[in-house]
Amino acid sequence: MNFFEAIYQRSPIQIQNILVSMYGIHLKRQRYGKGFLKSYEKLCSSTKLSNNAIEQLHQKELMKVMLLATKNITAYKKLQNKLTIAPLENIRMFPITTKQEIRENKADYVNYDEDEFSVIFTSGSTGTPMAIEVSKDALKKNYAFFWRFLSQLNITREDKNITFAGRKIISDNQKEPPYWRFNYFMNNALFSSYHISEETIPHYIIGMEKFNPQYIDSYPSAIYQISEYINRKGICTSLCLKAIVTSSETLLPYQRKSIEQAFRCKVYDQYGSAEMCAFASQCEHGTYHIDPEYCYLEVVNEEGEVTDKGEVGDIICTGFINKRMPLIRYSIGDRGSIAESHCKCGRKGQTLTSLEGRKDDFILTPDGRKVGRLDPIYKGLTGIKESQIVQTSIDEIVVYLVRTPLHTSSCDRKLTEELNSRLGHSINVKIKHVTKLEKTSSGKFRAVVSLLESH
Ligand SMILES: [Zn+2]
Repeated sequence: MNFFEAIYQRSPIQIQNILVSMYGIHLKRQRYGKGFLKSYEKLCSSTKLSNNAIEQLHQKELMKVMLLATKNITAYKKLQNKLTIAPLENIRMFPITTKQEIRENKADYVNYDEDEFSVIFTSGSTGTPMAIEVSKDALKKNYAFFWRFLSQLNITREDKNITFAGRKIISDNQKEPPYWRFNYFMNNALFSSYHISEETIPHYIIGMEKFNPQYIDSYPSAIYQISEYINRKGICTSLCLKAIVTSSETLLPYQRKSIEQAFRCKVYDQYGSAEMCAFASQCEHGTYHIDPEYCYLEVVNEEGEVTDKGEVGDIICTGFINKRMPLIRYSIGDRGSIAESHCKCGRKGQTLTSLEGRKDDFILTPDGRKVGRLDPIYKGLTGIKESQIVQTSIDEIVVYLVRTPLHTSSCDRKLTEELNSRLGHSINVKIKHVTKLEKTSSGKFRAVVSLLESH
């Protein structure tokens, strides 16, 4: 804990609200200061590019980033004389880089000519943070993309909003409401993701109704916990939301259904990364459109070869907005597939047709299969409030269950059968009943956790 955090934690609630708001002034400047509006307006004027325009844009941006990298970045200088005039062929000459390589040899990936920058830390689902240096304007550009997405949902910057996120704004020792603080300068109430429980949810609902936001921005798992309670208790809230926006975790189908039912509005998921090398968001038809001005994405198989359209593999990103540390063919750690857009909304370009979640959110079976997206196993089962599957060894998984009063032993039996039918019978399935599930240090929830050293 740093000095400011220590002061914050010791301050009374009203002072904490003032400190959060003061920090809000800093954030506002950082995100929406000089350059933001220009980027935002430019993006809004090009929401419906043709396939041809998108291809030309990709070629131009790829060429720019490759020229910059081969000139200024140690890791890529050796490719300088090999570039041809065909950007898509060139990009495939670049090696795929991993988070580990960048963490261990960071200096080799920095463009030192770009000397105005700030450092951001990615939380990393494995709990290993990574420092990324971003050029001064990259954060504002990043928010310009985020606001293009929000503006398509008719959300404006004046709208009141609630955020459920990873920042620890409420002390662990606080046992009574309010479990939220206000950022007056951004019309924002920050609700704690860490204090949500069966006992505290009624207070959360009252707090949300009183604040009366126009939209909510949340990790799927946080808002899902509240929606599950609302639906189970048959509560009808007075909230009238334009949308709920989720990000940072894989949004599971049952979570979406529950959230949309409880809050009577649509959920729009956004896919991105703290490394600023990928950005996709859902349109009104639920399609994940990749923003062509932000990044170029590829999907590769186990051998690192680019897959056919629609085939699932590892997502590889090349980002266009960070000139200080442009990540090229960066393996972001997610699995999915990419196809050409045929969406009814009319947007062209690449779409993520399947977003399967973190690469390490897979169960490895003793016969060598990687099984992801296990959420269908819960279909039709009653009595489960939340659950998490943890692979502890190659032949054992533990399912942690938070039960509702409707839970019976047949639910555990069916769950075991479902898992064995997908993973094989050589995996031992243990079910443990708990009152709360583990989250990562940044407050994110992972539905499947693998404790195996490597896959
Ligand atoms: Zn669409």
